[in-house]
Amino acid sequence: SDPLLKVRDLKVWFSIKRDGAMPWTPHDTLKAVDGVDFELMPGETLGIVGESGCGKSTLARAIMRMVPAEAGTVMWLGDDLLSISKRQMNAHRKEMQMIFQDPLASLNPRMTIGQIVAEPLKTHFPNLKDKEVKQRVREVLDRVGILPNMINRYPHEFSGGQCQRIGIARALVVKPKMIICDEPVSALDVSIQAQVINLLMELQEEMGLSLIFIAHDLSVVKHISTRVMVLYLGNVMEISESDQLYRAPGHPYTEALISAVPIPDPKAEASKEVMLLDADLPSPLNPPSGCVFRTRCPHAKDICAQEKPMLTDRGNGQQVACHLR
Ligand code: SF4
Ligand code: MG
Repeated sequence: SDPLLKVRDLKVWFSIKRDGAMPWTPHDTLKAVDGVDFELMPGETLGIVGESGCGKSTLARAIMRMVPAEAGTVMWLGDDLLSISKRQMNAHRKEMQMIFQDPLASLNPRMTIGQIVAEPLKTHFPNLKDKEVKQRVREVLDRVGILPNMINRYPHEFSGGQCQRIGIARALVVKPKMIICDEPVSALDVSIQAQVINLLMELQEEMGLSLIFIAHDLSVVKHISTRVMVLYLGNVMEISESDQLYRAPGHPYTEALISAVPIPDPKAEASKEVMLLDADLPSPLNPPSGCVFRTRCPHAKDICAQEKPMLTDRGNGQQVACHLR
């Protein structure tokens, strides 16, 4: 089947004023996303992993046109989201929803949860009758595990996990084709994280949703992802099937991330080789030439400083950007 979403050479650059700069001093260019390519298939979950500041959220926001892109295309159901009109974009907005990292902060404190979940429905389906809106809001809250008699309560009356369920209900209520989940469990207790992830997996099956699931650590995306994309300083290092990625990572950076994930067996954990990323993450304002990972890569050679490696398919669906692989 055809991809639902096809992103090509997407670049998001920010202009940053230098500290204490006078109006005429030059600005620095922060290349937050620097030429990203990937596809999302219908019904698939793509995990996106990388350290904070690697461009994960910016990438998500650029796809939704919440931040302007410098270049590239974002093909969605035959339209390039980056070049269509505002009106056309609004028509697509109901097909793609987002849930956020801080569940409480993402809910308006002055609205009841019933009003919060009803809002996107009223925006995108203005002809619905109040009764239908209410019915749909109740159904969707019930599905995410929030009791209908809570509908007139305010966000602060709920726990973090419950707030994230309300955020999920708000995304689901318009029956989207895709939900971008930007670190949806990072702010939650570990015991609650699995519940929210399981809920998302169930909903995805039931509704045939496509998910983009962003996290800063590989262990979180392991169970939910069909494929995983590894980002580093705004560049894609690797995209692989989930099993393949954990069994035989293709990129030295992925190897390092995997070696940092604890193994449940204490014996294996004690004897495993941990590949340390001891050098600091370079400033995204001044990324290394050639391969952006080279200042922390144990395999770096001369060519790595001279040429940027292209993301290349190794023939088994595993795409890797590395000169030596
Ligand atoms: Fe390491 Fe060179 Fe590969 Fe970059 S291109 S990951 S520096 S070996
Ligand atoms: Mg982020």
